[in-house]
Amino acid sequence: MKILLINPPNSGRSIPEEEYGIDSLKPIFRGEPLALEVLAGNLTGHEVMILDLKVEPEQLGQTLTDFGPGLVGITGMTCEANAMLAISETVKNHRQDIIVVVGGIHASMAGDFFNRASIDYIVRGIAKASLRLLVDSIEAGKTTAALPGIARTAPGKKLTFPPKKYSTLDLVEAQPPRYDLVERYRDSYTLTSLDLNMGFVATAFGCPFRCNFCCIRSLTDGKYLHHTVESVLRDIKLLGDIPVIRLLDANTFGSINQATTLCTAIKKSGINKQFLADVRSDTVVNHPQLMQAWHEAGLRAVIIGFEEISDTGLRGMNKANKVATNTRAIEILHEIGITIVGDFIISPWYKEADLMPWNATLIVMPLIYP
Ligand code: SF4
Repeated sequence: MKILLINPPNSGRSIPEEEYGIDSLKPIFRGEPLALEVLAGNLTGHEVMILDLKVEPEQLGQTLTDFGPGLVGITGMTCEANAMLAISETVKNHRQDIIVVVGGIHASMAGDFFNRASIDYIVRGIAKASLRLLVDSIEAGKTTAALPGIARTAPGKKLTFPPKKYSTLDLVEAQPPRYDLVERYRDSYTLTSLDLNMGFVATAFGCPFRCNFCCIRSLTDGKYLHHTVESVLRDIKLLGDIPVIRLLDANTFGSINQATTLCTAIKKSGINKQFLADVRSDTVVNHPQLMQAWHEAGLRAVIIGFEEISDTGLRGMNKANKVATNTRAIEILHEIGITIVGDFIISPWYKEADLMPWNATLIVMPLIYP
């Protein structure tokens, strides 16, 4: 089957731009559609193409004509849900018999949004194995009514997702991401401020924590699933001489044993890259030697969800963390020499004075990679 996997275009202006005229926010990188590359990796035997509309926003119509897909898969986040819908409508207007499948975070968390005539299937959670099952079932003419984690759309009726239990089998380790399918876009995937090419590698899915604002746990049924060290090394090597690797996990350090083993293996392998990864501040405070070892393995910057400026606020988010731990983590990472990108959830009720205690830290914390 000819399968076209689509990364939606940029979603236009952000809320700060739209609502408050703040135009100083700039993207610090543009990355590859790893989710689609991962899905493509398990669609062996099919002719698969990836269309990245973030790079080629005008190419949808021409690609549908030239490639002639039998199935189109669209992924996206919540801010891209309307764009995903518009793409599905364009696809169906182009040819009604193209099967349209949506997945990704919004489809997993709010599947009803996609219960529309322009969409045939909605896939929940990590879909590398599920999509393959769906494609095989469609090709074989089998019923698709009871495929775990996959709903057949029925506009106006209630969606039913047959239950799915996620496990490491869903990672389909033997099949690496199809990085080759975005080769023509490779020069566009950069760390903007440094003008360096950047590649994405997944080491883990899910998270052992339960922050109540976060969707990550639900994507794997609450499980923390990590790749084998061998497959992570393989994927890093597949990216060739790309100098910067973003470990695209919600929490790369969710298992200290795994993070330690991976760090040792990277050092031993002689891989010479700069890494960016997500870590919790309490992991930094409880395991400073691990951070030091990762720095020696190439960890250049970490993304930390500080989220809030008070312990009360952190408790309200079930973050299981404290402001003092955030502050200590910043000190440790500065001592080691790892750059910090801090994420905050800014409450609409904050006053300017609420942010003042953080000003000094925010100035010290480089938000753009040096
Ligand atoms: S630690 Fe991060 S990834 Fe894990 S649940 Fe909290 S916000 Fe989500």
